[in-house]
Amino acid sequence: MAPEITTEHPPSCEDVASLDIRDKCRELILDNEKIRKLMKVFLENVERGLKKATHPTSIVKCFPTYVQDLPNGTEKGKFLALDLGGTNFRVLLIELSGEHFEMKSKIFAIPQHIMLGSGEQLFDHIAECLAIFVKEEQVADQKLPLGFTFSFPLSQTGLTVGYLERWTKGFNCSNVVGNDVVQMLNEAIDRRGDVQIEICAILNDTTGTLMSCAWKNHATRIGLIVGTGSNACYVEKQKNAEMWSDVDMGSGNVLINLEWGAFGDDGALDFVRTEYDEDIDRNSVNPSKQKCEKMISGMYMGELVRLALERFTKEGLLFGGKGSDMLFERGRFYTKYVSEIESDPPGVFNNLRDICEELALKHATEQDFINIRYICECISRRSAHLVSAGLATLLNKMDEKNVTIGIDGSVYRFHPHFHNLMMEKIKELVDPSIEFDLMLSEDGSGRGAALVAAVAARLQKEAIR
Ligand code: BGC
Ligand code: MG
Repeated sequence: MAPEITTEHPPSCEDVASLDIRDKCRELILDNEKIRKLMKVFLENVERGLKKATHPTSIVKCFPTYVQDLPNGTEKGKFLALDLGGTNFRVLLIELSGEHFEMKSKIFAIPQHIMLGSGEQLFDHIAECLAIFVKEEQVADQKLPLGFTFSFPLSQTGLTVGYLERWTKGFNCSNVVGNDVVQMLNEAIDRRGDVQIEICAILNDTTGTLMSCAWKNHATRIGLIVGTGSNACYVEKQKNAEMWSDVDMGSGNVLINLEWGAFGDDGALDFVRTEYDEDIDRNSVNPSKQKCEKMISGMYMGELVRLALERFTKEGLLFGGKGSDMLFERGRFYTKYVSEIESDPPGVFNNLRDICEELALKHATEQDFINIRYICECISRRSAHLVSAGLATLLNKMDEKNVTIGIDGSVYRFHPHFHNLMMEKIKELVDPSIEFDLMLSEDGSGRGAALVAAVAARLQKEAIR
């Protein structure tokens, strides 16, 4: 076979990083042979998730979303939205009218003790934030429709019913898994008695992202998040989505929430996982779960880099073998550092120098800078390449010639090269007849929730007519 032609640009520090560092980072590099193997196994996983017989034991769940239609631009009205499960918890008030979009929102903190407390406490907190917001916005007296972006795996039996399959991303509230979270929120609102709302949709952030892009760009068929967590959803033909076969969708399409973060939980990724991945997993609140997500998303990327830095320092390959307490402290190397380090032009280490000072690594040399940047590049590329493998698998499967992918999330937004890395890699992996585009979503989890609620309201009206 002829060698594969690759258009890939090497990481900026590849030629100058120390030999032993390059050698030890080799396991972090996914070549196209490994990626194609991943794509094949991932496709099998998706197919298992879609089929009734294999869905219950499938690792990649492919949950149908009950979102019936994409927005067509005629949606109108005032909507509330809740956005839980990203970097911030937010409450939003959104007004849609034709091409016009107005939005007010407020960020509320979710303290750690609530993220790890009881489900009842969590939903009481959410209801309280909602109550504060509607009073401030002076809409407390109106019964507004609400879209709830709940960015965790849900098994749904309707647009307003969602049973939590598992917590992810640092949440671990008791007595929620297996329960309908819409009902839990309604109960919390009833306990207060001072807010009236109508929850008309619960959705995943990937769905919101797809919807918010589809509103502007009608070729949007995939929604992707590379943020605190990672996941994608896509438009599948109803006949392929067996879990759905009993419901008549009219459109012939079903929006599938893949929950690809769980890919690898059966060991499918073990041939590319490293000791850093195992360390992250062992020390997480959800060991042995979300193994793919832990290799991709922003909740873990900085810590992956830190673990490599810690190891190489202890092996005497960095900082003359002398680290710092902060460097050896779990969670102390933030994912935003990776974006900052890679934002400096090649050969310039302004941001990295500041970060080293922040971490009490004043003794770092120019060669340390080069090596650290190289490690960051390896880990962020690996993330971008895994995401690309997943997307290319979907594009090849979907049988559409022109697909826009709507994307949101802090890693995609703030990493300076993520978009280009994805464009490059997906091009290498998809059937050459397929055209695709990557589109940044404008606040998919916020306005997407309003759009899902609005589409549901429109369809209801059309049905009455
Ligand atoms: C969740 C998904 C979500 C993704 C991005 C994952 O941890 O399981 O439902 O879409 O994070 O927020
Ligand atoms: Mg979000």
